[in-house]
Amino acid sequence: MSRVAVIGAGAAGLMAALELKAAGHEVIVLEARERVGGRIHTVHFSNGSWANAGAEWVNTTDVIVHELCERYGLDLTPRYGFESYAFDGRLEHRDEDFEQIGEEVEKLAASLSDRDEPWNDPVARSLDRSNVAEWLRGLEHIDPDVRRRYPVYIRGEYMVEPEELSLASLVLAHSGTAGDGYARFTAGTAALTAAMASDLGSARILLNTPVQAITTAASSVTVVTATDRYIVDAAVVAIPLPALQRIKTDPETDFPWLGQGRGGKLLVPYRDRLWESARPAADAAATRFEFIYDNASHQTNAAGVLAAYSMEILDEAEVLDSFATWFPGLPAPSESPIRAWWSTELESGTTYSAPRPGDLDALRRLREPFGRVRLAGEHTEIVFGYIESALASGRRVAQAIDQAAAEGASA
Ligand SMILES: Cc1cc2nc3c(=O)[nH]c(=O)nc-3n(C[C@H](O)[C@H](O)[C@H](O)COP(=O)(O)OP(=O)(O)OC[C@H]3O[C@@H](n4cnc5c(N)ncnc54)[C@H](O)[C@@H]3O)c2cc1C
Repeated sequence: MSRVAVIGAGAAGLMAALELKAAGHEVIVLEARERVGGRIHTVHFSNGSWANAGAEWVNTTDVIVHELCERYGLDLTPRYGFESYAFDGRLEHRDEDFEQIGEEVEKLAASLSDRDEPWNDPVARSLDRSNVAEWLRGLEHIDPDVRRRYPVYIRGEYMVEPEELSLASLVLAHSGTAGDGYARFTAGTAALTAAMASDLGSARILLNTPVQAITTAASSVTVVTATDRYIVDAAVVAIPLPALQRIKTDPETDFPWLGQGRGGKLLVPYRDRLWESARPAADAAATRFEFIYDNASHQTNAAGVLAAYSMEILDEAEVLDSFATWFPGLPAPSESPIRAWWSTELESGTTYSAPRPGDLDALRRLREPFGRVRLAGEHTEIVFGYIESALASGRRVAQAIDQAAAEGASA
């Protein structure tokens, strides 16, 4: 049995802690915020409706997400409701528009020979030398108008400009998930992390406990908070890369870095869902926001929450103006919108990873142990950026620690 400190109570940290506990290890989870879940966060409005400020969609290929739904009796609701993207001030529908480019991504995916270790795959390495914007320019057989619009999809899905995203990342993430977002959690995504935390037991999770420093020695790790020191056999650091940069390490460790997305959502509550019946009336002033969708479409009360999803921190008045232009008759929001700009939060500093050209080797190194410290989190997975990525990383790291403990015990 090992004593393990898990830093961060997002999906990755909770998964690692649950698996370590199940394998008989002693676990403590240290969480900076006053809540568990990290980038899984369901927020509530006073009229009873709620919205997902972070993760929302579940993909058909999410193996562990479905396993946990089964384990905790959590229901999923198939995707439906108003969804659009904004282009030159107009509301458009995305799926049909981008299908042809999706097929080109699939062709590239079929040429990969090692998706488990893409840094060893010459095709993946060559794709990792290009960015998505360059590749898009070369797709001359595709309608130039579709190619002009596709960056909206990239900004909305990856929260970076196409120039910043490695082509290898697009191919690995897209093909590894089907990216279909076919359903969402009926009770909000936070139902998942709440169930995981309750299974783990509140005594094992310390909230409002940001870790400040980690000292690694040959036979132990010391994890330091404002008030305490935890001396353990191993540590799982399950926090986003920008948050990791804020932790002091001894010996000083230069953790690898991957490109990170920015922005988030503005969640605007309305008394009813006028957008379901009305057709967009006019073009709004061109805004820099990517997706617009009903974040509460399956909730039974009449009220709705319109989400503006963007890689830029949006001006609230501009968003409300655009909504009112598209849907004349839309009343004022029923209460103040909720801002979820994840890249501005100290505990996140990012929306999720969006590896740049050349980041494949950094990804490989993020998955290696740093002495008795192992990193978990969506950023450590080849298919990065999803709930499933975080859960898979937690499981992978817990298995590695369990195996190392077993080898140590038998040595
Ligand atoms: C706007 C948005 C939309 C998204 N949409 C989807 C989606 O539709 N589908 C999907 O599958 N995924 C989606 N994601 C991605 C998904 O939310 C993440 O991949 C996943 O939740 C990351 O989990 P994690 O455990 O790796 O990190 P996090 O959830 O960030 O957890 C890290 C935890 O560490 C804590 N922490 C930070 N610093 C410290 C410290 N010093 N000491 C202690 N604790 C610390 C944080 O407070 C946090 O609780 C979305 C994310 C965002 C932001």
